[in-house]
Order: sequence, then structure tokens, then C-alpha cells
Amino acid sequence: MTRPESFKVRVLGSTPATVDCGTEQPLLDAFLRSGVYLPNSWNQGTCGTCKVRLVSGTVKQPAPQLSVVSADEQPGGFVLACQASPTSDTTIELDAGTGPRHVLRDLTGTVAQISAIAADTLALFVDVGDEFDFTAGQYVEIRVPGTDAVRQYSMANRPGNALELHIRRVPGGRATDGWIFASLSRGDTIELCGPWGDFVYAEDDGGAPIVMLGGGTGLAPLKAIALEALAAQPDREITVYHGVRTRAELYDVEFWEGLTADHSGVRYVPCLSRETWDGRSGYVGDALLEDFASLRGHVAYLCGPAAMVDAGVKACKRRRMAGRAIRREKYVPATDSAEALPV
Ligand code: FAD
Repeated sequence: MTRPESFKVRVLGSTPATVDCGTEQPLLDAFLRSGVYLPNSWNQGTCGTCKVRLVSGTVKQPAPQLSVVSADEQPGGFVLACQASPTSDTTIELDAGTGPRHVLRDLTGTVAQISAIAADTLALFVDVGDEFDFTAGQYVEIRVPGTDAVRQYSMANRPGNALELHIRRVPGGRATDGWIFASLSRGDTIELCGPWGDFVYAEDDGGAPIVMLGGGTGLAPLKAIALEALAAQPDREITVYHGVRTRAELYDVEFWEGLTADHSGVRYVPCLSRETWDGRSGYVGDALLEDFASLRGHVAYLCGPAAMVDAGVKACKRRRMAGRAIRREKYVPATDSAEALPV
């Protein structure tokens, strides 16, 4: 008997649906390609956002980290949809909640522009032809040419047919040092897959004042989210903290200063952690604590290195922000990096 190339996977819960999933295809990939939303963040098996319960059937998957699927959860059939592929017809259960519902697509993009914007940081504009549907804050995965490795990069623009990406060089990095900063040029083609992720502008937040904390290129999705929020409500109160080490690493300053000139509710606060200057020095979380006595009724978007995001979340909670109002994205290294850092 020939082995089937795909199995039926049914999801129970808030968004019942059935999709065909290839035997080498992760469940998450199959659902998102069919336009069925499952919660998801980094797509690397390390954040646990796409954890689902296997009700019937079998899957194959790499052994999950105990920090993601605990020893108590494993006998209960919990698996990671971004890692597990079906080995039979399967039923999973989850409470999907709400999130961006765009069809996941493979795309070939062309580099329209690539330029240095700060020390070790470049802006990459990729033309993807027809309109690419995504929600502000989401990211794409880019395949490193000649390898199976993919790396995640957030869109800094609102949906359209070109993607604006901000990329920081990681010394010795396979994608950045070895390819993007070394040889990627205007006119080159890039293999992309997206959109991914749940770190998105929440339209249903009732116009609450926003605080944004971005570390390094963690500013990218915040730019897209701010533009989206201001398009809906031009007088929206948005305070943006951008943390970098030195003045040479600051970028997009003119853009943010322009936004403060055009929108009375926008405040832009660049913070340098390793240089004294006539602006704010120190970490973005500390600046937030200094500036706000209370953040009750605010919503927050935090993005960047894991330590910055964790410290920022703590600061938001110390100022009494509700946990559900805090949205975050951590730029964790890929699991196939030489030595991926703990989250
Ligand atoms: P790798 O070959 O993966 O790593 C080389 C070495 O550096 C390894 O030892 C690795 O552990 C270490 N390393 C990698 N990253 C870091 C780090 N941040 N700090 C310390 N050590 C590190 N990056 C952007 O510049 N812009 C973005 O918009 C962006 N969006 C992202 C969105 C998501 C959801 C995630 C998960 C990550 C995002 N990143 C972004 C990070 C990006 O995907 C890559 O991890 C990064 O560009 C490094 O890839 P690389 O192949 O050059 O380095």
C-alpha cells in the first residue's frame, strides 16, 4: 500500500475547520496556508504560542523543550503546531481566539533598494509584485540562499506591494554578516514566506493611549503599528521609546520627528544606554518608569532583544498595566544558529 502524502487534520474549538496537511508539513503551516488562524509567534518551537492538544491521531515532532511543553503537559497530548507533522488523520483542539487571518504564502521578491541607515543597520525594500496581505506588526521569513535556513524580519510598513525591513548585522551571522550585509544588492531576488506572527496592531483597543518600546531594529514593527493606529485615529496618543547603545545606532529619527510634528499625540523618546548626550540616557524600561506614574488604561507594544522586552514588560506591570494590554515580540536567535541563546 502506498503511503499517503497528506492527512486530514481537524481543529476543534473556537474555529472548527479541516485541512489537508502533508506528511512533512507542520500543522501550523497547513492551517495558515488554508487561511485558518492558529496562534503563532516565532515559528521555531521555542515560544509555545502554537501549543495545541492532540485529541486523536498521531504526529511526529522533535522532542519539545520542557520549558515550552512541560512534563505535565506531554502525557496530556500537547504538541507544538509549528513543529508537529501528522502521521495519521488527526484532530487537535485549541481555543484559537482572535488574530490576523491572512493566507500564508511563498513569494519571490526583488530587492528594490538596500541602504545603510545607521551603524550596522540597513533598510531593505523588497518588491513582492501583487498586493501582499498582512497586518501591521507581522513578519516574513527569508530563506538564506543555498541553505534550508530561514530568518525572520518584521515589516516596518503598512500592507502594500513592497516590504520595508530593518536589519541589524550580527557578527558571524549566517544571514546578516554572511549574505545580506556582504553581497545582497539591488535587483537580487529573495525567497520569502509570510505573513507570520501575532504581534499586531489591535484595532479593538478602544483608542487607548499607546506606549511602544523598541530595542534596535525592534523599532521596525512599531513603525508599522504606529502608522496603522494613526491612520485610524490621527490624534491617537502614542509614546515611542527607542533604545540603542550609541547615537550612531539611532535610525529613522527624521521619520519619528516628522510624526511628532504631524500628530499632536505622538511623542518620540530615543534612549542611549552607553553614551551620554543631550537626550535621554539609560534603558527604555527605566525611561518609561520615570515618565509615567500609572499606565492603567494604556496598551503597550514591545519588540526587540529578549532582555529588553522582559524588562519592559516588568516596567509596564509595575505601573499597573493589565497583562492582556501588553503585546510583545522577542527577536530571539534562530534555533539553527551556532549557539542559540536561551529565551
Ligand atoms: P545567526 O547565524 O542566526 O547567529 C550567529 C550567532 O549570533 C549565533 O551564535 C547566535 O546565537 C548569535 N545571535 C544571533 N542573534 C543574536 C542577537 N540578537 N543577540 C545576540 N546574539 C545573537 N532582526 C532584525 O534585524 N530585524 C528584524 O526585523 C527582525 N525581526 C525578527 C522577528 C522575529 C519574530 C524573530 C524571532 C527574529 C527577528 N529578527 C530580526 C532576528 C533575525 O531573525 C535573525 O535572528 C538575526 O538577523 C540574526 O541572523 P543571522 O543568521 O545573521 O545570525
